[in-house]
Amino acid sequence: MPARPDDLTIETATEWRRHLHSIPELGFGEHKTSAFVADKLRDFGLEVHQGIGGTGVVGVLKRGLGNQAIALRADMDALKITENTGLLYASSHQGQMHACGHDGHMAMLLGAARYLTERGQFSGTVYFIFQPNEEHGRGAKAMIADGLLERFSFEEIYGLHNMPGMPVGAFATRPGPLMASEDNFEIRIRGKGGHAARPHVANDPLVIAAHLILALQTIVSRRVSALDTAVVSVTEVLTDGTRNVLPENVTIKGDTRSYSPEVQKTIETEMRKLAQGTALSFGAEVAVDYSHEFAATVNHEAPSRHALAAAQATPGITSVDADPAPLMGSEDFGLFLNHKPGNFAFLGNGDQGANGQPLHNAHYDFNDAAIGPGIAYWSEIVHSRLTA
Ligand SMILES: [Zn+2]
Ligand SMILES: [Zn+2]
Repeated sequence: MPARPDDLTIETATEWRRHLHSIPELGFGEHKTSAFVADKLRDFGLEVHQGIGGTGVVGVLKRGLGNQAIALRADMDALKITENTGLLYASSHQGQMHACGHDGHMAMLLGAARYLTERGQFSGTVYFIFQPNEEHGRGAKAMIADGLLERFSFEEIYGLHNMPGMPVGAFATRPGPLMASEDNFEIRIRGKGGHAARPHVANDPLVIAAHLILALQTIVSRRVSALDTAVVSVTEVLTDGTRNVLPENVTIKGDTRSYSPEVQKTIETEMRKLAQGTALSFGAEVAVDYSHEFAATVNHEAPSRHALAAAQATPGITSVDADPAPLMGSEDFGLFLNHKPGNFAFLGNGDQGANGQPLHNAHYDFNDAAIGPGIAYWSEIVHSRLTA
């Protein structure tokens, strides 16, 4: 029997969604939000763990004698955006907004927790994970560092993100790469400044930086296979020079994207080599900071097949795309996939009005019509993976 959430569950989840929308909080500051989530889970009768990785919450629902366990994950944080939707339930927190639909993700997962508590036909354990700070790629790491994977032992993890532009009821995911990793870099070159008219007695770090910026473009064209995906973008050049003074310091900043840890490693290694080699050849000093902001979201084969099959069987899901084009944007869920088999999927948010606005836009709103299909999908995953 396919999971079919009742109207009352969907209506109630819609009220939660609108309430959560009105109290958006930034990453690791989700105090009211996580308290609301924990209260609801407790009301349903779940075992609730709070304060995991800061404001993270885990609800535990056990049923029957099955010893299999799966985790379903939603994100809780909002963005530093001033809302411009004019909605009755618009943000009451100045300068903060649920512009990525995490309010909807929480409502769908809470709705599923309630539905599965009341009517779930499965045997095993479901962990409902509500993670903080997705937007800056810090929350998954914080929860894992706080013992998430040791305290709650699950075999598979699933995640869902709304997608404006896709019709409501449309579902898309694929095995393999779905979203890219994001790394940031900062390269500081220190030379010898001097008079703009006498460069031969200085050691102009701006010319060195120019060589290096061009050399960095050879990482993608000459160090990464043409069959792999990589982006290296220099986005800022800062100097302490002025109109007639050669700078002493030049800082180059930028952003890189890729899909595999091997390519990610290649970019970092080659960048360090080029920076050192270029600085050395011109007699300057250089320091390189390279930071991992987001892991790539690379879906595992079997869980992706399970997710696609569950979506096919879900009432309210009207189309399933098993091979969407991967995105170069990044998602903190990717880090969970480095530790556990799992799948991340997209659910249509519609293309009309506020629902069709891009994510992270001041006019965007999550589509409440997606709540029913979302709850049904989560329930279907549980029923199909934890068979009674
Ligand atoms: Zn976002
Ligand atoms: Zn998001």
